[in-house]
Amino acid sequence: MGETTQHALLLLLCLSGLVHLSDAFVFWTAEVGISYAENDNKTVDKRCECGVFGRNSPLEGVEGVVQLPTRDPEGCGLNPGYKRNANLSAWIALVKRGNCTFSEKINIARRLGAVGVVVYNADGTGDSTTHMSHTGTGDTVAIMIGNSQGLEVLNLVENGTNVFMTIKVGSPHGPWMDTYWLYFLSIAFFIVTAASIAYFGFISANRLYSMRQQKSFDRRLKSEAKKAISRLQLRTLQRDDEETMSDSHMCAVCIESYRVGEVVTVLTCDHIFHKPCIEPWLLERRTCPMCKCDILKALGIDDESKESISDHSPEEVTVITVAGGEALYDVPLTGPASTDPERQHRYDNRAYEEDTEAARD
Ligand SMILES: [Zn+2]
Ligand SMILES: [Zn+2]
Repeated sequence: MGETTQHALLLLLCLSGLVHLSDAFVFWTAEVGISYAENDNKTVDKRCECGVFGRNSPLEGVEGVVQLPTRDPEGCGLNPGYKRNANLSAWIALVKRGNCTFSEKINIARRLGAVGVVVYNADGTGDSTTHMSHTGTGDTVAIMIGNSQGLEVLNLVENGTNVFMTIKVGSPHGPWMDTYWLYFLSIAFFIVTAASIAYFGFISANRLYSMRQQKSFDRRLKSEAKKAISRLQLRTLQRDDEETMSDSHMCAVCIESYRVGEVVTVLTCDHIFHKPCIEPWLLERRTCPMCKCDILKALGIDDESKESISDHSPEEVTVITVAGGEALYDVPLTGPASTDPERQHRYDNRAYEEDTEAARD
């Protein structure tokens, strides 16, 4: 079925579109840990899964001492003022969001030797983070943390505390992992599937229905044809009938000449055929093979069934279409059907005889 393939393709297209779309939504959280010594030399360890890896960052863990850009907290410009200590093997830059692009901030710190860049969100945004886009920053690990977490570290470092930061890869989040998205997708999938099934069901039911209609229509036509056939005149050919005398008369169905004693059917158009030849033909096609005259119409059976009035039947007159090929609907049945003695035929159609008798009463 052509429609099935079309629908399957459409569904596939939708799904692939969703998968494609989802790529942009998948993000990885970062586990951020800080460790520092308090005034009484107690070590404080804090940890939260509050960072989000940047879109272009390698998914790797890094660690180092946190450094701030002293001149520009947003870490922009040629020299934002990172205090670099030669003893530090690894350091992580902590910069505020804004003023220049993420890529610029990250690249400035990278050039100065930072192993990672932590961008904290703008003031007034609380714990919220965004999925940073920062092309061209190489293999520098870049994450974003919320404003409040950023400020906490910032205050510690500004007060002279040596903060050691550990960044670890957290877990993926996105349409396929998120329960909300999963619900949404499964519902969407269910709706599409249900709609498709309903559509196909409707189409099939429709086809089945029209097939049944056609079948019953055919059956009705056949029964009407049977009725019509029963009303047609039959003649048994006699020795002196013109049909048996000349070879020019032949049955158009079997292409054979008529012989004495053969039973022929006279159609409403006055064409004659062998009874066994024409009956199966009429059952199927209901028309004269010679002139295409519709016997149902000629006998008024078509109209009858349309109006479904059974007692409005012109049975008595329609049978008497003997002479001249015209339907003689007004021929009185009480008199001889034809004044022409040569046209007087013997009918062995019982229905006809009954009809005529009934009409005479
Ligand atoms: Zn024949
Ligand atoms: Zn005909």
